[in-house]
Amino acid sequence: MNKGEILQYFDKGYGNKYKVYAPSIKSEKDNYFFIVKDNKEKYLLVFAKIDVSREFSGKVLEEQKLDGNEIAIKICSLNHHNLSLLREIFPFLNPSFCGLRPSFGTGDRLGIATPAHLKAFKDKNIFPILAQQSVREMARTERNWQKVLDDVIWGCFEAGYEGPFGADADHVKKIEDLKEAADCGFTMFTLDPSDFIRNDIGRLDKQELDQLYNQIPNSKEIKKLYLGKSYKVNGKELIFDEKSLKEITLTYSEAINHVVKCYEFLKDYKKSNFDLEISVDETPTVTSPLAHLFVVLEFKRRGVNFQNLALHFLGDWQKGIEYIGEVKQFAKEFSLHVAIAKKIGGYKLSLHTGSDKFSVYPIFARETEGFYHIKTAGTSWLEEAKVVAMKDPALYREIHRFALENFGKDRASYNLTTDLSRIPDIDTIPDGELINLFKKNDSRQLIHITYGSILRAKDDKGKYIFKDRIYKVLFQYEEDHYRELSNHIRRHLELLELKRRER
Ligand SMILES: [Zn+2]
Repeated sequence: MNKGEILQYFDKGYGNKYKVYAPSIKSEKDNYFFIVKDNKEKYLLVFAKIDVSREFSGKVLEEQKLDGNEIAIKICSLNHHNLSLLREIFPFLNPSFCGLRPSFGTGDRLGIATPAHLKAFKDKNIFPILAQQSVREMARTERNWQKVLDDVIWGCFEAGYEGPFGADADHVKKIEDLKEAADCGFTMFTLDPSDFIRNDIGRLDKQELDQLYNQIPNSKEIKKLYLGKSYKVNGKELIFDEKSLKEITLTYSEAINHVVKCYEFLKDYKKSNFDLEISVDETPTVTSPLAHLFVVLEFKRRGVNFQNLALHFLGDWQKGIEYIGEVKQFAKEFSLHVAIAKKIGGYKLSLHTGSDKFSVYPIFARETEGFYHIKTAGTSWLEEAKVVAMKDPALYREIHRFALENFGKDRASYNLTTDLSRIPDIDTIPDGELINLFKKNDSRQLIHITYGSILRAKDDKGKYIFKDRIYKVLFQYEEDHYRELSNHIRRHLELLELKRRER
């Protein structure tokens, strides 16, 4: 039987109960696999030879002799076991190495956004990093590496996507987390050494600075390598004088040691090629061009093979809203960073907190000539919350009130200028205008940063207060969910397109 006949046969017998995701139909020899849904859930449908179908866990709908073959139709849950079998049959379902291609990460906190993300990437020459979650986000959403990756792969399968895509274990601070992510099949690792970056060095006087510097085991070597050395970038001279060299070394040396340790672990442990990102963005210290130069030279010297580098760029980078600061000023300093990256070569610059930074995207893409990676996450959650506001205003109002109560405690780990008093009273906004809350910075950030509290909130019987209902709305209004989300991510991607010169 061919694909059309399989569909027809299934539709005749089960069409009143299950809807087929037509793009998902994949075949291997005479065995067919696709995603279907009833009015509550999605499933994997196995339409295959009986012995093949037996490996999948699920419920047999029928066993039949068709075209001389003993076949089974089996309805299976979207679990890890079934997905592992599918990944063996269809290797394109495995994430892969990205390298220096332009790339874009779409964090997905609810784990149901991948088909929408893929729609946004269609015909764009940008490598999608579809799985991307940080250790912190996983704690807040009660997920784990395996779940994050599995959800994305099911999404790829549903959309009929045959790759490629990457999987980024984001902001990892500990080797044990790297190990777990590697075990689950992640292909990209973002090392976050921020706990080892010193932010107090600028306050030291000369004597303290000298004293601390001399305590660094390889201080003499560093001095010999860099002191007085100048680097010409973009017609500008970057020089390591005594003070700047000591300050930069003290600020970053422990962090560099930590990165080297993590890299060596990964190199030994991960058998296949992987992408490595080093991120020093989540510290109060803005990365100066000279500091950028220093850390990169040190990583190269110590044999760390990395693809992406995330710096703390000039300006105010807040979650889920536009860039705050002088775009021109940013562009000026950024061009220096790009020049350094070009001079040293072999890596891309990575922009974190990339959600909704529409004004800097064209600069980022143009200046880097396509050697960029960008991360977004919260903006997908905001689009999902927006769809809840559109389709179930009462639920959204509950979420909004809850977010207001929790904002004070949840804002602690973020850099924000949110002013709750500027958000209109939720009780006076008509249903049809709730959507406008997602156009304003204060109300966007209110929902953005409280996502963990919202998703984890339980009543006294231990039942989720919002989470299950949010999933239900997005399941019921899936077309709206996919449309709003893919349009929004597409707005990001359209600003990044350009012809790129190889270097
Ligand atoms: Zn970051």
